[in-house]
Formats: sequence, structure tokens, C-alpha cells
Amino acid sequence: MQLNDKTPIVAIATAAGRGAIGVVRLSVPVHHTDAMLSTLFPGILLEPRHAHLLDVTDVKGALLDRAIVLYFPAPASYTGETVLEIQAHGGPMLLRLILRSVLEKLAFIGIRIAEPGEFTKRAFLNGRIDLAQAEAVSGLIDAVSEASAQAAARSLSGDFSRRIHAVGSLLDEARALTEAQLDFPEEELDDLMADEIVQRMETAAGRIDELLKTARKGAVLAEGLTVALVGAPNVGKSSLLNALAGEEVAIVTDIAGTTRDRIEHWTAFNGVPLRIVDTAGLRDTTDVVESKGIERSLQALKEADIVLALSDASGQVADDADALKRVEETVRCGTPVLHIANKCDLASDGVLNELQSRGAIAISAKNGEGLEDLKSRVLDLADMAGGTEEVFLARERHLECLRQAGVHIRRALEIADSGFGMMEFLAEELRLAGRSLGEILGETDAEGLLDIIFSRFCIGK
Ligand code: GDP
Ligand code: ZN
Repeated sequence: MQLNDKTPIVAIATAAGRGAIGVVRLSVPVHHTDAMLSTLFPGILLEPRHAHLLDVTDVKGALLDRAIVLYFPAPASYTGETVLEIQAHGGPMLLRLILRSVLEKLAFIGIRIAEPGEFTKRAFLNGRIDLAQAEAVSGLIDAVSEASAQAAARSLSGDFSRRIHAVGSLLDEARALTEAQLDFPEEELDDLMADEIVQRMETAAGRIDELLKTARKGAVLAEGLTVALVGAPNVGKSSLLNALAGEEVAIVTDIAGTTRDRIEHWTAFNGVPLRIVDTAGLRDTTDVVESKGIERSLQALKEADIVLALSDASGQVADDADALKRVEETVRCGTPVLHIANKCDLASDGVLNELQSRGAIAISAKNGEGLEDLKSRVLDLADMAGGTEEVFLARERHLECLRQAGVHIRRALEIADSGFGMMEFLAEELRLAGRSLGEILGETDAEGLLDIIFSRFCIGK
């Protein structure tokens, strides 16, 4: 994908498969507008942003469908170019025929099929939205829970971007004051000016910390939390998955070694999307398939954000300790491990007390006891317990940029703290902090970054 590619593009913008309505969308540079309109709908004057019911024909003039056609002249369109939307009946064959007809009829202006995310990429390149907003478009499409959809909508509205801008302005001001001082090196920085600079930097640093906190939550809403269920065979991992999923996702038997491969299921706790991974029970085995499964369990452990280590409180499963030891050995350092004592419906009070005193959460996957407690502990661990009303969608990329900005501001503050000895360096740190923030909004020309971001989109967006 080239940055300044101005080739006219077309794509089926609605989901694959049958539907009541399907949309074929075109975006063409403004100078091709007349050629496009007079070729596709000869003799018809399209009024901007009005619905027109028109015949859509193939290249030989045969009728394909009667469709609603919407015309958005540049620059007030999604992409900033001239956009045309043909809303036809939603059959996959019909939409392909319309797409082909457009490609054939407009071959003379060089039209081609759009790449994934290319409409949104043009919107970004033409300054209709910034990069964080563009990413929110895919977040909205991919949202797996109500809370993540709302967070994406907040980002798309520019809420997140405005806050980034506000911090950026503080940094710009601090830098302007610093640089003004640089022009008079023989004069000493007066206290009032020093205060002005420090105050702005401190406010900016505080806001970045806040943004980072919210963005971390936003990243969880966007990507979901991965929770791995591990433990010896038969402790009730698959039963717990089913209980949390509210349906029979995994096969439950009392034969140890039933779950031989990892099973994943998406669910949500309080609007927070969760990917729950059930794994093969950890034990020594000579079965080839089962040991492959165990290998994958250990892999799932490494990828997990939170690990639920199950043990059996009923005393039916003996080799618990061994499995739990393997869990501790495998998890990434820093990954929280919650100890779960399952089958509390069968457990004696003595055993339960003993397990709970060691910090385990007593549950019964069978009758649902303790599951609410378990859910809130998981949300607590992910720092998601406080609700998600103010959260905007964020990506790991945003977190990294915010962290970088924070590092540079702290360095600038250190320089100020040590008596403003190196004003050039201070100004430079402020510039770098501002640049890290700008990267979030796409105020850099890193083409590789854009390709990575937009290739994650579906075609037609
Ligand atoms: P896994 O091998 O760890 O996935 O264990 P399963 O979920 O397949 O369960 C093993 C056996 O324990 C099955 O017979 C389940 O019905 C039973 N089981 C699981 N959880 C509970 C529980 O909370 N209470 C009781 N009484 N039985 C359970
Ligand atoms: Zn299982």
C-alpha cells in the first residue's frame, strides 16, 4: 500500500454471506467524480447525501438490481474523497456482480478493489480522523462486549485524542518557555519562569499517568483477558469452563484425561471480555495425544493474563500438589495465579478451612457456589473492578507511546530538579515526549506502522 495512492477503489462493504442489504462502496479522487457518476448512472443528477432508487446494470446494460444510491461529494465524506454507496439486496452473488460491473465500467479511470482498511486509511491520510480514531473503527467492528463497543465509540468520537492533544499542548508550552530562555544563555532563569515550566511538566506527567491507567483498561476491553484453567485431571476444569460460559462448551467426564486439547471460549464478566482457556490436565502420561495436549496447556499458561489453578477439595484427586508445582514453574513472572478449591459441595469443613486459610477460593463448578466471588476476584486482579464508564479503547501501541512519553517527561523533570543546568537537554526531552504522544494520533510518517494497523481491518472498511 502506498501512502499517497489516489487510485479509485471499490469494495463490498458489508459482511460476507447473505443479508437483507449489501453495500458496495466506492471512493474516488475528486477529479474522477463526474466520470464516475456519468458512467454508472448516465443522465441522472445525484443530489449529495440523498437516497436515490436507481437501476444498477451490468456492463452490457442488463438489470442487476434496483438499489439505493448515496452520493457523498469530496471532501465531506468518510474518506475525504468522493464516496458512492450502492445499497443493494444482500445476496453474495448479486454483490459480486455489482462489484464486477463497477470494476469493468470504471476500468478507464483505473479503479481497483480496495485493500483491507483502505477506506479508513484514506480517511486518516486525508485528515478526516486521526490514527487513534481509525483504530477505534476496527475496535468498534471487533467489539465482543457492550463495554468494549462503548469504549471504541468514545475513542472514535475523539475523546481520547482530545486528551492526548491537551497534554501535548502543555508540553509545547513548557518547551516554548524553555527555548525562549535558551536564546539568552547569559541570563539566569528567574524563579517565576522556572515555576511556570515545572508546573506544566508536572501537570503533564500526572495526566499521562492517568491516561495510562485508563488506557490499560481500554486495552483489556479491546483485546480481552486470557484466563487459563489449569490443574490435575478431574479437578473440574472443564466443568468450571462450562459454568462460567453458561453452556456446555467442554466435555465433562469422570475419566481423567478427557480434555486432550485446549478449548477456548469467549465470555464477559461485567462487560469485560474474557477468553477462557480450558486445558488438558497436567499429569505424567505415556499417551502421545494427551502429552501433546499437556504441552499446549503449558503454552496456554505462558500466554495467560490470569491463571486459575484448580484443586479438588473433595479429596478424590490425589496428585494435586504435583500439578500445582508445574503451574508455578511455568507461568510468566508477574502473572497472577488464583488458587481455586473446587467441589466444595463435597468437601469436609476441615479441608475447606485449611484450603481457604491458604488463600484459595472455594467454589463448586457443579452448583455454582463461589462463582460470583471468583469473578470479582478476577476483575480485581485485572484492575477492572471499578467499572468501565470512562474508559476509551486503547491498544498496546498506545500504552507503549504513553509509557515513552512518561519516561521523557520524568527525565525533563529531573533536569529541572537539578537546577535547570542543561536547558537544551530539557527542551529535547520535552520534544521527545511530545513526539511519543503524537505517534498515538499518527502525527509521524511511519508507513510500516500504518500498514500493520490497517491490514487488521476487514475489506470494505
Ligand atoms: P477436568 O478433568 O479437570 O476437566 O474435570 P471435569 O470438569 O471433567 O470433571 C471431572 C469430574 O468431576 C466430573 O465427573 C464432574 O462432574 C465432577 N465435578 C466437577 N466439578 C464438580 C463440583 O464442583 N462438584 C462435584 N460434586 N463434582 C464436580
Ligand atoms: Zn477437562
